[in-house]
Amino acid sequence: MVFIASIMNFRSDKLIIAIDGYSSCGKSTFAKAIARELSYLYIDSGAMYRAVTLFAIRNHFINGEKIKTGKLVGALDSINIDFKRNSNGKYETCLNGENIENEIREVKVSESVSNISTIKEVRLKLVHLQRNLAKNKGIVMDGRDIGTTVFPDADLKIFMTAEPEIRARRRFDELTAKGLHVEFREIMKNIEERDIKDSSRKISPLRKADDAIVLDNSYMTPEEQMVWFRELIKQLSG
Ligand code: C5P
Repeated sequence: MVFIASIMNFRSDKLIIAIDGYSSCGKSTFAKAIARELSYLYIDSGAMYRAVTLFAIRNHFINGEKIKTGKLVGALDSINIDFKRNSNGKYETCLNGENIENEIREVKVSESVSNISTIKEVRLKLVHLQRNLAKNKGIVMDGRDIGTTVFPDADLKIFMTAEPEIRARRRFDELTAKGLHVEFREIMKNIEERDIKDSSRKISPLRKADDAIVLDNSYMTPEEQMVWFRELIKQLSG
């Protein structure tokens, strides 16, 4: 495999690849494809913030924009998040052993996750977990602060973006394909609100790391993005 050989020249040991970017711009599809190609572990850090949010919803710690932060922080030690492989070989998010992969994608979770992710103690817990998962390197992780905070020394950082309307359309198609009934306007509003909240929060705001490479995939198919990635690796291993 020419591609694998070239990435091995780029760095002889296994890499940590950090993918950050705006909501619904295809980070997880891209990150998963890279992980598959390199036989790396893929970790969706957003799923972890969603799992904590679901826990908070179930325990009535969220009331609209209001969060019972003290109660949630006090309960953090009782939250166990991990990823289990299903029969199709896909990793699914588990909260205290329960598969919550579908529930964490629901609108009720999307609406509150950016507020939950501003809580310092939540971020500390999840960043610790994320770093542990990367102990053996050979990992692709996507999120908002992976290249800036979680792995500031990542071997490769990619910052993804796409036009908001295009992102909303993709998210809408994805959710309706799963049989969920959603309004396009609601999705668009949620994406815009999360972008603002995620970029303006005090702790680890979403921003491009200085050494990240930008990928605007507004008009690119997943295959074209992989061609772009292979080309990038070729250049880096120069
Ligand atoms: O990636 P996804 O859209 O599922 O992430 C959900 C939310 O989790 C984001 O809007 C953001 O508020 C939060 N998040 C974060 N830091 C990360 C990943 C996600 O704050 N590394």
